[in-house]
Amino acid sequence: MKTYRAIQELQTTGSVTAGISLRTGGISNTPYATLNLAEHVGDDPRAVATNRKILFQQTGLKNWQYCRQVHGNCVIAVDAPTGASLEPPPEADALISACRGVALGIFTADCVPIFILDIETPAIGIAHAGWRGTFARVAVNTLAQMKACFGTVIENCRVHLGPAIQKCCYTVSAELLTQFAERFGCSVHDGTHLNLQAANVNQLVEAGLPATSISISPLCTACRTDLFYSHRAENGQTGRMLSYIQLDTE
Ligand SMILES: [Zn+2]
Repeated sequence: MKTYRAIQELQTTGSVTAGISLRTGGISNTPYATLNLAEHVGDDPRAVATNRKILFQQTGLKNWQYCRQVHGNCVIAVDAPTGASLEPPPEADALISACRGVALGIFTADCVPIFILDIETPAIGIAHAGWRGTFARVAVNTLAQMKACFGTVIENCRVHLGPAIQKCCYTVSAELLTQFAERFGCSVHDGTHLNLQAANVNQLVEAGLPATSISISPLCTACRTDLFYSHRAENGQTGRMLSYIQLDTE
């Protein structure tokens, strides 16, 4: 199993570990083959537990926190390493923390994993942004909560949009394209395809984040089902990757 280092840009401070798992190197069977890390998709829970152990060993991260993702824009602040995941995971689509040694994780299969690092405080955030979360401005809301909880200044942040479905493969209804264009500008679609990355970039820039502080993975999950799970390309029945970020202990 090789973890794709999605956000090397965020790691230049040397104090952050972040990445996204690939679908390879686990033990799950079709249609979850092989490194499915989510419990809610119908896979054998024992296989998921084994797959998580594989990822945890590979990354060396120990204190994991997740949320029960509902395609909304709620943000949960994780205060301190508890040594155990919050049980049951709180309903939310983003996690933030200023604690070292806490790995924040979100599950995706086409939705955009959004990694945030506040270099100065330091503090971190991670958000799950499919079309609903993107439309509800989950990325901007995550930054706002980092400001409220940790005093994060937006200009000190770096943001990375990880592997997700890209414009090439994301046809949606004309009605949805219109709603997105009205909210985020005409650049978010080409008449038939929605550009989730552009909708997230536009809302972040509008909130004050310099465009130069945002990086975007060019990888499309629907084009690359050899590497990633894709809800769209695999007709809704598939596994999930886990994206993660942690402020390392010094
Ligand atoms: Zn594609």
